[in-house]
Amino acid sequence: MSAQTKLSGGDAITKTEIRFHNTLSGETEAFVPLVPGEVTSYTCGPTVYDFAHIGNFRTFVFQDVMRRYLKSRGFRVIQVMNLTDVDDRIIQKSAAAGVSIREYTDKYIKAFLDDRAALNLEQPEHLARATEHIDEMVKLIQRLTEKGFTYTSEGSTYYRIAKFPSYGKLSKIDVAGMQAGARVDNDRYDKDNARDFALWKAPKPGEHFWETPIGPGRPGWHIECAAMALKYLGDTLDIHSGGVDLTFPHHENEIAEAEAATSKQFVRYWLHAEFLLVDHEKMSKSMGNFATLRELFSHGHKPSSIRFLLASVPYRRQLNFTPDSLQGAASSVERLRNFVARIGTEKFPEGSSPAMLERAAKAREEFDRGLADDLNTAQALAAIFDLVRDANIAMDRGEFRQGDAAPVLEAMEMFDQIFAVLRDDDALKLTALGITPEVPTLSDTGVEALIAERQAARKHRDFAASDRLRDQLAEFGIILEDSRDGGVRWKRK
Ligand SMILES: [Zn+2]
Repeated sequence: MSAQTKLSGGDAITKTEIRFHNTLSGETEAFVPLVPGEVTSYTCGPTVYDFAHIGNFRTFVFQDVMRRYLKSRGFRVIQVMNLTDVDDRIIQKSAAAGVSIREYTDKYIKAFLDDRAALNLEQPEHLARATEHIDEMVKLIQRLTEKGFTYTSEGSTYYRIAKFPSYGKLSKIDVAGMQAGARVDNDRYDKDNARDFALWKAPKPGEHFWETPIGPGRPGWHIECAAMALKYLGDTLDIHSGGVDLTFPHHENEIAEAEAATSKQFVRYWLHAEFLLVDHEKMSKSMGNFATLRELFSHGHKPSSIRFLLASVPYRRQLNFTPDSLQGAASSVERLRNFVARIGTEKFPEGSSPAMLERAAKAREEFDRGLADDLNTAQALAAIFDLVRDANIAMDRGEFRQGDAAPVLEAMEMFDQIFAVLRDDDALKLTALGITPEVPTLSDTGVEALIAERQAARKHRDFAASDRLRDQLAEFGIILEDSRDGGVRWKRK
């Protein structure tokens, strides 16, 4: 199914039906929101006990691409993201630091929001702190108790999953093997076993707790998301997304809580992003500590390269995060920025060419078709890079006309509404974060010596050594280009 509709003010192009892979059905389905024109979306946010990891940002970038794409297709998006500001680790770490939970988590919430801004992640409509929603959680637990889904033991309240027959429908986990009444009350537990989980935890000596109608204590993790999603988005929401590792037990437990309380379907489309892979040994050798965004920034990597890399691999594919792939992303962004700058500065002959108009419309159509297909960002990007290549060739040949600029730029704008990397503001962003990149320097003689070593390794077909030397040079911001005759050129990034 497709329709002729106007996209971003341009000529009519054919827009494709949006399809998302739904973990619940295990299938890629047409996306039709419950209320026409409006999308309700819940995002599991970070547990703010530390800086968020680059793997977390893979999921957040995917959610941002989804959000921006839905908006570009004319939907009003209402997105909620929780901030888990109370859990075992937070309680331990704030106690160890001798500060309140609030004070401890404020610092990491600010850092998280600053990191998001650096990656051009749009702000969700609601950012919900768990500790500000204790009432909603308590009320939801009371509803579950009224319906017989809970029991208490030693001051804690547990969810009785044997009462919820469709438990396991999201993760397809086999609950038959579970021990009846087996309980777990810590926040991190093994992911193979379905167990009765704590909704409300009795306070341990010296721990922070809330005095509530269901007794003193603090909430379990899963009840936070269920309570906040129901509060802001209603009983049934369109999209719930997160990393694939949250499918079980977290999302399964959210379903059990929400659906037992409301007797309605909780979420219509569940979207899960695959892992970000890091070759730990290789990364630690060649890039030092890579774990947080700030570490990457201070090693000289730009926010735009990181965003581009994280967005460029379709969310359901594993993403291998390496120095090479980051460098590739940096040069892709540079190529796109140079292209837009070239259109803006070069003088072209008057008039316009029908071929280029058609070319630009095709690129916009293919870009949209890629994203409509379960957010296939790789396919969407290919459409843009093909356009850039063809337009550059036309310019080189003197065939590009002044009137071709607007439609081509329109395609680039459409791209940037989603990818958000064209504006050259990386340096400003790093300044805002107070980061001065420390790119280690290497003299020309030093570069030549490492290249000679690498050439020798290649001659002996020792490709492991050759790759290692290439990575080592990359760490100094040196980019190598191997030529066909076996020689090598290099430049500084
Ligand atoms: Zn959650």
